Amino acid sequence: MSATIMPDETFEFVKGNCPILVSMPHNGIQIPSHILPTMTGSAKKMVDTDWYLDQLYQFAVDNGCYLINPEFSRYVIDLNRPEDDQNLYPGQDTTELCPTTQFDRQSIYLPNCDPTAEDISHRVKKYWQPYHRKLKSIITEIKSEFGCVLLFEAHSIKSKVPRFFDGLLPDFNFGDYNHHSCSPDLMNKIDDWQPQGYTKIVNGRFKGGYIIRAYGDPENNIHAIQLELSQATYMDENKLSFDQSKASQVQPKLVEMFELFNSFIQQNSKLS
Ligand SMILES: [Zn+2]
Repeated sequence: MSATIMPDETFEFVKGNCPILVSMPHNGIQIPSHILPTMTGSAKKMVDTDWYLDQLYQFAVDNGCYLINPEFSRYVIDLNRPEDDQNLYPGQDTTELCPTTQFDRQSIYLPNCDPTAEDISHRVKKYWQPYHRKLKSIITEIKSEFGCVLLFEAHSIKSKVPRFFDGLLPDFNFGDYNHHSCSPDLMNKIDDWQPQGYTKIVNGRFKGGYIIRAYGDPENNIHAIQLELSQATYMDENKLSFDQSKASQVQPKLVEMFELFNSFIQQNSKLS
C-alpha cells in the first residue's frame, strides 16, 4: 500500500482496511529551513526522536492498518501535548508543547533564539492542528465504517533518561491513562500477555500522553492505547542506529501484540 504526502501536508497518511489506526507523533525528523538556523548543533541531531518506528511497524501497515506519521521533529512542536500546554504529569518533569530543552536538559535553541509566543502559535496552526484534524477525521471515518476504532499510539524512548525516570525503563510500557482511554477487555489481554524475554509494565511511568487522553472514548467504542517501547529493544542507543538483529527479535512480539489487537477488534467491530 502506498503512502501519500499531499502538497502542503505535514504528515504521511496511509488509508487502511481495518479499524486499527497507528499514530507515531514523535517519529518525524525534519526541521523547517527557517527554524534550523536557530537551533544548537546538538539539537539538530534530534536525539529524543522516537526513532525508526515507521520501519518497525511497517508490518502493521502492510497488514491493513491505517497510519498517520508526521514529517517534522518533536522539537518543532510536540503533537502529543495539549494545545494549551498543560502538564500531562502534574508535579513531574516533562517536556513542553514547544520544548526549549532536550531530555538531557541541553538547550534546543541558540542564545536569544527561543521561540516567541507568536512563533509557537504559528507552529500550532501549521503543524499541530492539521495532524489533529486528520486524526479526528480518520477516527470518524473508521468508526462509521467499522463501528469500532483502535488508536495505537506508537512511541519509543531511550532506556535510561534520568530526568524522567530512575534506572532502566521496562521494555514494553503500555498506557491507557489509568483505564480511561481503552476497554478493560483489551487491557486484560495486554495484562495477560507475556512478551517472552522482555519486561512489561502497564500504566507505570508512562500512562499515555495527550493523544490517547483526547481521543480514547471506550464508551463509544473508540479505544486508544499507547506503547512506549524501550529503544534498547531495537536500537544501538549510543549510535542512534537501527539494530537489525535486536529488531528481528522484538518484531515477532509486536506482531503478537497486533494479534491481540485484532482479536479484540473482531469481537467489537461490525466485522464480527
Ligand atoms: Zn514519543
